[in-house]
Amino acid sequence: MPPTIPITADPSLPESTRHVLESISKQFHLPDERLHAITNQFVKDFALGLGEYAKPMAMIPTFVTGVPDGTEKGTFLALDLGGTNLRVCEVQLNGDKTFKLRQQKYKMSEILKTGEATALFDYLADSVDSFLTERGLDLEDQEELHLGLTFSFPVEQSALDKGILLTWTKGFAAKNAVGNDVVRLLQDAFDRKHLHVKCVALVNDTVGALLSRAYTSGGCLLGAIFGTGTNGAYVEDVKNITKLGNSAAAAKGGKMIVNTEWGAFNNTRSILPTTPHDNKLDRESINPKFQAYEKFISGMYLGEITRNLLLSLIDSAPPVLFKGNSTPVLNSHYGFDTAFMSDIEAATSVKDIKAVIVQNLGFEDDQVSDQDAEIVRWACELVATRAAKLSGCAVAAVAIQTGHARLGGGFSKDDSKLAVGVDGSLVQFYPGFETRLRASLRACVGEDVEKRVEIGMAKDGSGVGAALCALQAIKQNTRQPV
Ligand code: ADP
Ligand code: MG
Repeated sequence: MPPTIPITADPSLPESTRHVLESISKQFHLPDERLHAITNQFVKDFALGLGEYAKPMAMIPTFVTGVPDGTEKGTFLALDLGGTNLRVCEVQLNGDKTFKLRQQKYKMSEILKTGEATALFDYLADSVDSFLTERGLDLEDQEELHLGLTFSFPVEQSALDKGILLTWTKGFAAKNAVGNDVVRLLQDAFDRKHLHVKCVALVNDTVGALLSRAYTSGGCLLGAIFGTGTNGAYVEDVKNITKLGNSAAAAKGGKMIVNTEWGAFNNTRSILPTTPHDNKLDRESINPKFQAYEKFISGMYLGEITRNLLLSLIDSAPPVLFKGNSTPVLNSHYGFDTAFMSDIEAATSVKDIKAVIVQNLGFEDDQVSDQDAEIVRWACELVATRAAKLSGCAVAAVAIQTGHARLGGGFSKDDSKLAVGVDGSLVQFYPGFETRLRASLRACVGEDVEKRVEIGMAKDGSGVGAALCALQAIKQNTRQPV
């Protein structure tokens, strides 16, 4: 609902309020030069991570050396641990770019996220067990079922079915998992329960998004997630992944999907547009000083940044919002969900915005003025626009890294489509997220390239991607018996 005049220039507001809003607007504003500088730094960090291990931008080789073309066939189980959601799926790839997917979601509790790793992996195995029971697939004499695990945390992979957890992100901190092979942890849990399930592939959700988009549309350059967290994976020339050294993978050449782990971009915050609200969020987070870029962008954090901003407006003297009053919901850490921001920006009238505020934040009807509603909407737009614009820098950086674009525009390799498969509730549901991302992409690489970028949802990307990876793993194993 675009206001006719920007709220920062609304003459009905007291001058002191206008002054406060204007100065906040400036803190969140990202001029084109800043977007260019951020994209430039992104490309530099890509190069550092491709050259050496243990760099902040991990640039993890995935050992996935080709993208599907839609002819792949088979039925697999998939387990998706994303951050907010846990899903178990059965995926049937039909070999004609279509698939059939049956899935069940399971709840993730805070205790599981931060307790012992064995308890977490036992819960994953239990979820698979109950899915199989419900589907009638738990027959004792049945052949082993093959499962692909979509595990959306930084993992240093050494084979399709082997990977060491580097660090937790997105509010997870389960003990005795970092440094261990995630497939082993899961397989041990299956074995403890005597399940006839074998985990044959480990895949990041970004890679899953890329693979599934390629399967359904015949090709893909970049898979990107904007959900609880943010991350991207793209198709790189093996010769550019110089840290592979003299390994067999390097000798083979060709292409390989690289999981960038771009959520950790600029952990030093030398270039990210940090405000006091971002600093507060970081200080109070479970992983201060890490995942800096993710904390500006993703679903887990946008609501919390906005909450910090709203509280500062409530607390300012004289108060700018809600006559200086707050509520228990607004006072609680992570009490303001990013989905509320979506609802507020999707509202088509001030009355609707008020209704969202009253329903979700615990205010009474008469405690929310029209002006309050407009200021809350303005705050949501400010935080979400900054997120979408910063997201555009990552997409621009991949277009530059893969030789399709140049910083500042004026160059487009050819006019072929640049397919980007995206997944995550933020990009799927937040009003205007893609439009705002595209504006930033255009500012960084020019309209010629921006127009070629085809952004499409990687529908059920995590499940389908895991199935495609499981298929690849089985093909490789039958070719090279051990
Ligand atoms: P996961 O990251 O676990 O795979 P999702 O992609 O569903 O899961 O992302 C969940 C995140 O998206 C949560 O942080 C939540 O706050 C946010 N979210 C959920 N619904 C919406 C919405 N309608 N608009 C924007 N963000 C949303
Ligand atoms: Mg997900």
